[in-house]
Amino acid sequence: MSITATNEFFPTQYWHVLDDGRVQCDVCPRFCKLHESQQGLCFVRGCHDGRIVLTSYGRSSGFCIDPIEKKPLNHFLPGTPVLSFGTAGCNLACKFCQNWDMSKSREMDTLADEASPLKLARVAHELGCRSMAYTYNDPVIFMEYAIDVATACREYGIKSVAVTAGYICDEPRRDFFKYMDAANVDLKAFTEDFYWKICGGHLQPVLDTLVYLKRETNVWFEITTLLIPGENDSDAELEALTQWVMENLGPDVPIHFTAFHPDWKMLNHSPTPPSTLSRARRIAMKNGIRYAYTGNVHDEKGDSTYCHQCGQKLIGRDWYTLGVWNLTADGHCNTCGTPCAGIFEAQPGLWGARRRPVRLRQYAD
Ligand code: SF4
Repeated sequence: MSITATNEFFPTQYWHVLDDGRVQCDVCPRFCKLHESQQGLCFVRGCHDGRIVLTSYGRSSGFCIDPIEKKPLNHFLPGTPVLSFGTAGCNLACKFCQNWDMSKSREMDTLADEASPLKLARVAHELGCRSMAYTYNDPVIFMEYAIDVATACREYGIKSVAVTAGYICDEPRRDFFKYMDAANVDLKAFTEDFYWKICGGHLQPVLDTLVYLKRETNVWFEITTLLIPGENDSDAELEALTQWVMENLGPDVPIHFTAFHPDWKMLNHSPTPPSTLSRARRIAMKNGIRYAYTGNVHDEKGDSTYCHQCGQKLIGRDWYTLGVWNLTADGHCNTCGTPCAGIFEAQPGLWGARRRPVRLRQYAD
């Protein structure tokens, strides 16, 4: 795949020239080594004039206002609207990708909407969004664009949310998350075998990202694990995963076990039964994780937040619709006073379960 003359060439920072003249991209652990005009595996970074450039800066595959619960984030400004967008490409090659039309796109015409960072932030503000989400495909591959949008958003008091697989090298990781307020990180499985054979990547860099977020940042983050029958849903793997989370991240990082539906190159697997999600949630809570959720299914019990001290239901949820709200104005259980981990306001937002597509070109530049 080669860069075409019509693409833009936005300069990037993390690369170096190899002895053989190729240029290595150092953003993610794939370390693509590229000849002039070649693109990396992610399709949006490539070698142009002897340096690595980003070819998707300022363009998006579409915008939509979502509930923040859809990211999923259950402990970050619940009930509020988030303006979501992605670009094209991805740095992993998951056979089960649930967003493959965007993440696997090699066609730059997927990027229909042009959007400068300032315009994006202004439109999000006009539409009453509390956050901007970099999602649909992994923002680490378009980090220069995401960082500029996040910087513009801060001027308007709009938070930034990364939805990411966390597959990124140390230095760009520090740079990228400096601009993020919250993240949902996919922990796709807990074996190197799964990461290598099914995603074409490695597990350890993802664990490094999670530990980095916990120990060295104030970014609020939650974890999502998509459970695929027969691939990553055994009791032993779920025990190991949740014990690792407890030991390395502590009890307060929420984890979402979500249902797989057959997609992309994994059409031969059946959808995840709800009982598997409930089993994973039970294992997580048995191991001490305070906030474990089921996702992509109707399960009011598994979707709601409970006080880990007295068991009171703190936030009722069914899919993306909020129910009861039993938190004090400063985020404590209103029965026993125990704090609930997360970023809360005195009242939940009122966005509900709506999804509203947004055409950027309808707004003034
Ligand atoms: S960000 Fe893209 S070009 Fe860079 S190493 Fe990763 S896959 Fe390759």
